[in-house]
Amino acid sequence: MLSRTLGLIFWMAVAGVAGYWLSPTSGPLPGAFAVCLFTVLKDLWKGQKIAKWLRHSNAQDPPNLDGIWGDLIDRMRRILNEQGRQTKNEQQRLQDFLMAIQASPNGVVLLDPEGRIEWCNQTAAQHLGMDAKRDLMQHVVHLVRDPVFKKYFSSDDHEAEVVIDGRSSSLQKTFKLSVQLHSYGESRQLLLTRDITAIAHADAMRRDFVANVSHEIRTPLTVLSGFIETLQSLKLDAEEQKRYLELMSVQADRMQDLVNDLLILSQLEGSALPSNNEPVTLESLMVGIESEARGLSAAQLNLGEESQVLNFEVSQGIQLLGASKELYSAISNLVNNAIRYTPSGGLISAIWTTLADQRIQFSVIDTGPGIAPEHLPRLTERFYRVDRSRSRESGGTGLGLAIVKHVMQRHGGELKIESELGKGSRFTLIFPASRVVIKACRAEP
Ligand code: ADP
Repeated sequence: MLSRTLGLIFWMAVAGVAGYWLSPTSGPLPGAFAVCLFTVLKDLWKGQKIAKWLRHSNAQDPPNLDGIWGDLIDRMRRILNEQGRQTKNEQQRLQDFLMAIQASPNGVVLLDPEGRIEWCNQTAAQHLGMDAKRDLMQHVVHLVRDPVFKKYFSSDDHEAEVVIDGRSSSLQKTFKLSVQLHSYGESRQLLLTRDITAIAHADAMRRDFVANVSHEIRTPLTVLSGFIETLQSLKLDAEEQKRYLELMSVQADRMQDLVNDLLILSQLEGSALPSNNEPVTLESLMVGIESEARGLSAAQLNLGEESQVLNFEVSQGIQLLGASKELYSAISNLVNNAIRYTPSGGLISAIWTTLADQRIQFSVIDTGPGIAPEHLPRLTERFYRVDRSRSRESGGTGLGLAIVKHVMQRHGGELKIESELGKGSRFTLIFPASRVVIKACRAEP
């Protein structure tokens, strides 16, 4: 700055002396003034160039000026570069932040003080059936029309969340959403949405389950307490007493069966998956099941009725890797069902077969009443029965097929049900090859 001022004074002096020398009558002032004017105009021109450069703010392409203006441009360029870097960093951070919110399994909607949507992630758009771009700056209550939400939005109390019906943008799938408003910044609001369909479903199932269990236990309990009252209040002869006690024993057995099945189910749900190194030989497994089945079939035979024909076929030398208790439970449930639902004289076959791909299957085929197709998908639900009284009469708990399905899932297998009304049913268990060990049979001498 000093050198520039000295330079200006020098050139003014030179111009003044030159002017005086050329025209002594005018003196040195016009020459000095001309230098001043030239300098000011030159600076104005340079300033103009810098202003134009700043207007377009292209820090990479500054005007090529020397001296003090060159220094100034250099400093400005460095400041602009630094600012550019900072802005880029901040934009990147904002982008990362938005991407993190986009990845959230919960919906996030940012609302301005008037309740208009400033931004929302795809999950929120999907939950609330809106378009994340098209619906920006729309009022949220114009888009979320659920009356529960409208009331919640207009009230001042947003302490708790509310549950509304969600709406996918396809309008086909409805689900349960939990939504909550949170205040932030200057009168802004954050709307969070969470898909709670699975939780609501599990809750409903738990409630149904408790109601079903209570109902199942209450029925035999009511009968039992009725009999107890009768025994206490009436004088019965020995024969009548025996009959009453037998009826009471049936109800007590029913409750016991139910509790046993409930325990099996809760153990299946709470225990580790069956190991892959406990071999269970099919022949020995089937010995117990066959004798239990024959006993059950004989026990339900009324006087004068033709007995059922039971046919058991087991492949030799095959082992299943799994939990023997669970396998026993699944197989005996299917065999016992076939016996319980097939009328006297009917045929029941329980057959093991090895499939070409090394899987093995167990089928129970009966000539019983069969099951109408509309019931088939629901048979493995807990307490689902096609005919309630028929199931209870024959000592069913309504949990048998639920247990079978669970056991098969735990062993990586599947349960297939085929049935035709009036013709009979076929229940098939298919075990994966990874759980099958085929032992080479010793050749007969
Ligand atoms: P339950 O204890 O009532 O037998 P399950 O879960 O074992 O309960 O079976 C569910 C329902 O499926 C039964 O109530 C019955 O209506 C039907 N079912 C099961 N097995 C047979 C079968 N072999 N033949 C006809 N219906 C069957």
